[in-house]
Amino acid sequence: MKALLKDSYGRAIRDLRVSVTDKCNFRCFYCLPHGSPPETAPKSDVLSYEEIEFATEVFVSLGVEKIRLTGGEPMLRRDIETLVAKLARIHGIKDLALTTNGFNLAERAAGLKAAGLTRVTVSLDSLRRDEFHRTTGADVLDRVLEGIRAAQRVGLAPVKVNAVIVRGHNDSEVADMAEFARTHAVTMRFIEYMPLDSGHGWTRERVVSGAEIRAAINERFLLVATRGGRGSETATRYRFGDGSPGEIGIIAPVTEPFCGACSRVRLTADGQIRTCLFSKVEHSLRDVIRANASRAEVVEYIESVMLKKEPRHYINETYFEQPARTMSLIGG
Ligand code: SAM
Repeated sequence: MKALLKDSYGRAIRDLRVSVTDKCNFRCFYCLPHGSPPETAPKSDVLSYEEIEFATEVFVSLGVEKIRLTGGEPMLRRDIETLVAKLARIHGIKDLALTTNGFNLAERAAGLKAAGLTRVTVSLDSLRRDEFHRTTGADVLDRVLEGIRAAQRVGLAPVKVNAVIVRGHNDSEVADMAEFARTHAVTMRFIEYMPLDSGHGWTRERVVSGAEIRAAINERFLLVATRGGRGSETATRYRFGDGSPGEIGIIAPVTEPFCGACSRVRLTADGQIRTCLFSKVEHSLRDVIRANASRAEVVEYIESVMLKKEPRHYINETYFEQPARTMSLIGG
């Protein structure tokens, strides 16, 4: 489809991440640690399913092709399957995915698939029960593993598994996780720790770089870059040199920024357009929709906001400051 939505740097906007709730049932230390929970939006500010459907449909009519539901934990939003079914009917979506912590996935994977979901990404930061518990605050490793198996069984494929690698926590598990990708035929994606945690515990020293991750995997398994380059994707992708199933993705926004090819924008649970994870300003699509704007006015508003998309993030500059609203409120 023709890219109708472009930012001021000529980047086509193809990918919309829709946060359906800012609440989460896990307390991952790198995202939403105990002791400092940020304020969540009042219910009346949260977009209804009809509002999300309308906004998504407008974005898709402007050339967006990939929709990812996220949060907070999207499966905490009541009857998320209803929203999935509404979005699945929108003509022009090539990929309708959901990112989840996997807590409820085992029992709901089949329903999500039936509703029209294409695939899931599951967060899994450790294969060790104690470290998983320490990271998330929830002692439910087996349950999440069962969720991954269920997603595969019902064909929510390819299942992607996300691990944020943090020094002193799970950096010694990188090669084991690559092995997990092989034995379970999943795409294992290793993500650099970004300064987006509500507890402000991020330091550069705790970031395990993409280069370190690649080296740790290569010590055990030969990785071969997949053909065709990354395009606008966040991950650099690799397959295993010995032809084993599974795939590796390395997402290195801190040490190998990929802003020049960014095709993403976000819609927060309370209806704010967020043009970059590290934006300092948000744009209230909710206010525009609730002011009974015409469809043409909504289109015009979205187009004007795209022109404000930041050229890049500034994590590596001395003047960098963490945005006020962090990952769980933005939608990862
Ligand atoms: N609750 C869902 C989940 O657990 O996947 C969806 C929301 S979560 C915010 C989305 C993704 O953001 C997860 O893969 C999570 O690991 C990642 N994330 C959260 N905080 C992060 C940080 N500070 N740096 C890098 N990734 C982060």
